[in-house]
Amino acid sequence: MGRVYNFSAGPAVLPEEVLKAAAAEMLDYRGTGMSVMEMSHRSKAFEEIIHRAEADLRELMGIPDNYRVLFLQGGASQQFAMIPMNLMKNKVADYIVTGQWAKKAAAEAGKYGKVNKIASSEDKTFSYIPDCSDLNISEDADYVYICENNTIYGTKFHQLPDTKGKTLVADVSSCFLSEPADVSKYGLLYGGAQKNIGPAGVVIVIIREDLITEDVLPKTPAMLTYKIHADAKSLYNTPPAYGIYICGKVFQWLKSLGGLDAMKVRNEKKAELLYSFLDQSKLFKGTVEHKDRSLMNVPFITGDEELDARFVKAAHEAGLENLKGHRSVGGMRASIYNAMPYEGVEALVAFMEKFEKENL
Ligand SMILES: *Cc1c(COP(=O)(O)O)cnc(C)c1O
Repeated sequence: MGRVYNFSAGPAVLPEEVLKAAAAEMLDYRGTGMSVMEMSHRSKAFEEIIHRAEADLRELMGIPDNYRVLFLQGGASQQFAMIPMNLMKNKVADYIVTGQWAKKAAAEAGKYGKVNKIASSEDKTFSYIPDCSDLNISEDADYVYICENNTIYGTKFHQLPDTKGKTLVADVSSCFLSEPADVSKYGLLYGGAQKNIGPAGVVIVIIREDLITEDVLPKTPAMLTYKIHADAKSLYNTPPAYGIYICGKVFQWLKSLGGLDAMKVRNEKKAELLYSFLDQSKLFKGTVEHKDRSLMNVPFITGDEELDARFVKAAHEAGLENLKGHRSVGGMRASIYNAMPYEGVEALVAFMEKFEKENL
């Protein structure tokens, strides 16, 4: 069987070129006689891989020199604890709750200090982004936290909140590298790789240098201390080496396509195709307020759960995989990350048109 169009929210589709290049190097990485999986993380070959990955990421995002890039483990969820352990000096933080991931992050931070939920969209099942232009930012907040793209609900902050001078911390797992971003607006941004970058097991943290200190909460484990990882250049212990290697290949793929400006154009074109179909469909409808729609995750429903289930099954049989919505919301969700080709979205829309004709 050939490759399918994989609309999974994560782990998600990777560029075929990257998978092929990795396959070609699987048994013998560039004359080393071994796979990247088998080599020492202190070897010359691996040092080159991680240096190159960081340099390419810096170039793609225009990361300023006073920011550090860390390749860590534990997924995005580990950052839910690591952030407060390292950044809560006053033991206060403001959280904007726009979905399950922000909610989980807020709950975790609550173990280490006082969490103020300064805005939320839970009243309408997280189907929109609240107005964040004049928030009640806490005087003593160590940071303001957002989940920039809500993977489950399909909303995105198209404008960052006004934090009134406080440090902005963002979970960008599902919109990482999908369009240009101004890193200087954040104190810390991070994402699990398995959504838009590479294999699960890697989380990338981009953090401003002044936030990397020894002044962390008492008994913070070494493995959860940014300073230890920053001082060791992400090689404090064995890093997720193979995952970092694949991330690096994805960075090169992004560069070869013209970088993040080009990705934005591609992603807008894909999303436009799907959203404009949804907007005129008599069977399917999008579940998100138009102004807050994500370019990456597109949830939709028919309004009939039984029909939704039939759609997901029929789509699977047609080679359109993983369209079932998150278990907490039901319906369908198409994740159309960087590596999803335009043809994949065309195939999905054509299938939806056909399904609509047959079921209306
Ligand atoms: C998937 C996801 C997470 C959780 O990622 P893990 O790596 O499984 O911990 C957190 N935040 C966002 C926005 C996500 O999409």
